[in-house]
Amino acid sequence: MKPVKQIAHLRKKLEKLLDEKRLEHTIGVAYTAASLAFVHGADPHQALLAGMLHDCAKYLDDAQMLTLCKKHDIPVSEVEEQAPSLLHAKLGAYFAKKEYEVTDEAVLDAIRCHTTGRPAMTLLEKLLFIADYIEPNRKVLPRIDEIRREAFSDPDLCVLHITEDTLQYLKEKDKTLDPMTKETQAYYRALVEQREG
Ligand code: FE
Ligand code: FE
Repeated sequence: MKPVKQIAHLRKKLEKLLDEKRLEHTIGVAYTAASLAFVHGADPHQALLAGMLHDCAKYLDDAQMLTLCKKHDIPVSEVEEQAPSLLHAKLGAYFAKKEYEVTDEAVLDAIRCHTTGRPAMTLLEKLLFIADYIEPNRKVLPRIDEIRREAFSDPDLCVLHITEDTLQYLKEKDKTLDPMTKETQAYYRALVEQREG
């Protein structure tokens, strides 16, 4: 399938599955990721695909996510057991492969880690992680203007600031924190500090 056809086809399928807000977020992430790919020298089509599918499992409720993970032998951690919505990333990668016929492992990996990030992300993973946070439909968050500029000028610093603000937000709201978010923050803090000497 030609790239344009593939994206149009995905969009039609997702229109039936996602509510209006999530669909607009999805399209925002896809085109933001593609724009970041232009600037940072990643493949824009991979970025579009990853963006289109990153939340494709998010329409499921907690119980459905847990059931599907068990059914398909997707490992569920203790934190994910407590906050099953975290599983939409792993399940999204699973659906991308099984239902949307994405075979590109780089795209699947980006979908898999888009919620928490991870230490030493690939460029594509980083751009999806960032795009998910900065896309234009997102509600206004503290220092979002700065973070949006950094997305284009300094992605590593941008990831650091996103993880810092996410940790702060989760703490304030007393929400379940996936330890991977902390690992991502620690890695990018060390990276930025080392770079700055
Ligand atoms: Fe997500
Ligand atoms: Fe998202």
